[in-house]
Order: sequence, then C-alpha cells, then structure tokens
Amino acid sequence: MAIATTNPATGRTLKSYDPMSDEQIDAAIERTHLAFQQLRGTTIAQRGRWLTAAADLLDADRDATARLITTEMGKTYAAARAEVTKCANACRFYAAHAERMLADEPADAEAVAAKRAFVRYQPLGPVLAVMPWNFPLWQVTRFAAPALMAGNTGLLKHASNVPQTALYLEDLFRRAGFPEGAFTTLLVGSDAVGRVLTDPRVRAATLTGSEQAGRSIAQIAGRELKKTVLELGGSDPFVVMPSADLDRAAEVATTARCQNNGQSCIAAKRFIVHTDVFDAFVERFVAHMSALRVGDPMDEKTDVGPLASERGRDEVHAQVRDAVEHGATVLCGGQQSDGDGWFYPPTVVTDLTPQMRMWSEEVFGPVAGLYRVSSYDEAVEVANGTAFGLGANAWTGDPAEQERFATDLEAGNVFINGMTTSYPELPFGGVKNSGYGRELSAVGMREFCNTKTVWVGQGAAPAGTGAHAE
Ligand code: NAP
Repeated sequence: MAIATTNPATGRTLKSYDPMSDEQIDAAIERTHLAFQQLRGTTIAQRGRWLTAAADLLDADRDATARLITTEMGKTYAAARAEVTKCANACRFYAAHAERMLADEPADAEAVAAKRAFVRYQPLGPVLAVMPWNFPLWQVTRFAAPALMAGNTGLLKHASNVPQTALYLEDLFRRAGFPEGAFTTLLVGSDAVGRVLTDPRVRAATLTGSEQAGRSIAQIAGRELKKTVLELGGSDPFVVMPSADLDRAAEVATTARCQNNGQSCIAAKRFIVHTDVFDAFVERFVAHMSALRVGDPMDEKTDVGPLASERGRDEVHAQVRDAVEHGATVLCGGQQSDGDGWFYPPTVVTDLTPQMRMWSEEVFGPVAGLYRVSSYDEAVEVANGTAFGLGANAWTGDPAEQERFATDLEAGNVFINGMTTSYPELPFGGVKNSGYGRELSAVGMREFCNTKTVWVGQGAAPAGTGAHAE
C-alpha cells in the first residue's frame, strides 16, 4: 500500500511519502532504544508533566488536527474534533493516575516468609505499535499515553493512508518535552513490520487492526517470544428485548452503527431483535438510518462521510450484493453512489441466513444486519454465534435480564441500554478472534510492564523450599 494522503471525499492524492530505508529504520530503533535508557530513569511526576503538556498541545492544535484527520480518512470534522479532545483527556487521565497505578503493591510478607514482599511495575522497553486509520489519533494515544507514563518508548507504524497524522503524533510528543526518540514514527509499509519486531531492541508489540494482521504479528512475536496485545475486528451484537425503550434503542442503534462512517471496531453490526418488538423497532431504525445525511465530511450538516478507501467501500458493497443474491432484503440504502469520493449510504438488510458473508464477516461500513429471535436464549445464541467477541450491547428494562446478559454475552465489553464506547477508566479489548490483552485503565498500562515480584528476607532460605523451589 502506498504511503500517502488521499482524500476519501474526492479520491485525490494530496501527498506521498517514500518508505524509510532499512538504514533509516535501524537508526530510528537505535534512537528509541537510547531514549528508553533515558526515560526509564525519569520520575513519574516528570513524565506526567510532559504528558500534560501533550494534552495542552492537543487542545491548542484541535481544529487543524481535526481537519487533517478528516482529509486523510474521511470522518466528519465534528467527529474528528471530538477525537482530538478525547485524546487530550486520556493524556490528562494517565498523567493524574499513573503514580497510583504504578505504585509498589505490598504483599502479605508473613505468608511468604519474608521480611518484606511487594510487586513493582517496571517498563519493558521500546514497544512497536501497529495502528489502523479509523481513529488515527485515538488508537495511538490510548497506547502511547500509558506506555510513556510507565517509562516505555514507542515506535509507531501507522496505517499507510494516515502518514501526516502519524508524523503529527511524533512531533506532538517531542514538542511536549519527551526525550528525542521516546516516540518515533516509522513511515513504512506492513512488509517492514517483521524486520522491526525481530530486532532485539524492540521488546513487545501492540496491534490494532484486522484479524489477518493480528495473526501475522502474533506469529512473528511467538517465534521471538515477545509480548503482544491484539485489538482486532468485531461484529458486535445489539440485542433489543421486549422491555427495551424502543425509541431510545433505535436512535442509539443508528449512532452505534454509523459513527465514524460505520468504520468502528466496536460499532454495533448485528441487530438481534425479539419478534414481539421486531416490526416496531425496525420501523423506527430504518426511519433514522434513512434520514442520515451523507456527504462532505467538512460540512457540519453531514452525518456520514465517505469510507476511508475505495477498496473498503467496494468490499462493503460486495457484502451487501452477496446477501441480496442469496435472498436478503434491503430495507434502505444498498446503492453505491456515482461520482467522486467513496461514499456509501446507511443500509439496513434483513432476511439474513448463514450462507451469506454478512452473517459471519465483519462489515466495515454503515450497513446493519437484522436478526429476528423469539426468546432470550435464542438472542444470546445468535449474539455469541460469531468468531468475534469485542463489544456487545443489550437493551432491556428487566433487571434480571440485564444481569444475565452481562454474564452470558461472550465479549470483552458489554454495554446494557447504551452503545459500546471506550473510557480511559475502563479496560478495553476482546475475546475470541477479536484479540487478547487489554488497553486503557491500569490493566492496559500494566500490559507493557514487568510485573516484578520482590521478596526481601532475613538472609535464610524461605521456609518450605527444597530442591524444587519453583
Ligand atoms: P489492517 O489492514 O489490519 O491495518 C491495520 C494496521 O496493520 C495498518 O498499520 C497496516 O499497515 C498493518 N498491517 C496490515 N497487514 C499487516 C500484516 N500482515 N503485518 C503487519 N502489519 C499489517 O486493518 P484495517 O482494515 O486498516 O482496519 C480495520 C480493522 O481494524 C477492522 O477489522 C477493525 O475492526 C479493526 N479495528 C480494531 C480495533 C480494536 O480496538 N479492537 C479498533 C479499530 C479497528 P498498512 O496500512 O500499511 O497496510
């Protein structure tokens, strides 16, 4: 894939970059390695001041950065501005809470026959971050803020279609005061990832992206025995039960499906509706979906901008065509627009069967699939009947059902009577083919820490240990 900024609203390429040479990659890894030696010796308070400075810069740069994001990947300008603000808030959150999250944790010294025993969290070293274009600032920040606070350094291989956002991020952390090389952008294609990950100076990797990219990185990291966190695709269920507030559910369902022009890993993609309220929900949902305005993402009246790439738009349309050819019914949308830009209309498809691609694949665009079910058990069965397990939404006014959904849905995040989103305060990640490991909260920060056990004794062997003291 060419490393270039191509405006999805026009299809015009605005700026291209040559990929870095092997020598440039090596030099960047060395800078990051040296920066780690420096960063690990700084205090959490110092790193917090730098991260707070990054938050202030994000706020100050917000409009220009949002314009850049919209130009590179097509989300609406309003959504891009909100993304920048979310990043600033996450930086402030980690600056404020890292001291507590990284504090030594005392253990029961007596139980382990020690004078003193505790757990200490220490950084691992340079971490490679392979990131997608769909939230080009947020996906990187939710890795970088906790990683830098913990004393790790970052090497960013961003998606090839957002090179200017990638360069902005490197510049941001430099301007904020972090040591030279603490956060470095590699302008490289995915073919260079193996080379970087096998370098002994790189200690771990995080990937947010497709299942295929996840498998590829996990294979290399497995061979190299390096820690990985994988945030992969999703096909989140959105279950609507008879006791749900249908007006609210239909409104939120529309946002949950079409936010970010339908290109969110945690977008609701499969709408599983109880037969008692199926028609009433669908009527409301289709009305909302049809009313969304598709167009220029810089126009404040636009709800849904273009998809990020021509290939992505064609893929979504191919999935809809495949469903129709196998007997599905399109209730709204479903037509690929003529003209410049990679636009696709909000679409609702019903009468789905397991023979259709939409049944089992992730649809990365504003296309909703409807599923009719006749009981709680069937709703859970359809919801869990996917290889993915990222987020899940259930709408029900029944407290007992709320409890059951929280337990029964196979997902890393369950949101009841709301849509899935991410907060710095809460862990984020998936199960099954949606990946492993967590980002955000203290859990995310500790993914790239050495959880070190420290045992301080009196000088004698611990009681109860013998020849096999493992
Ligand atoms: P993608 O093709 O996997 O790209 C993501 C990143 O991985 C890009 O930097 C890409 O580089 C790189 N990459 C691609 N193939 C690779 C390989 N074989 N080895 C190493 N690196 C590779 O994903 P996408 O289609 O652009 O993004 C959408 C996917 O990301 C969806 O499945 C979505 O659900 C998922 N996603 C997940 C989360 C989450 O938190 N779980 C969040 C957002 C998105 P190039 O750009 O150079 O190809």
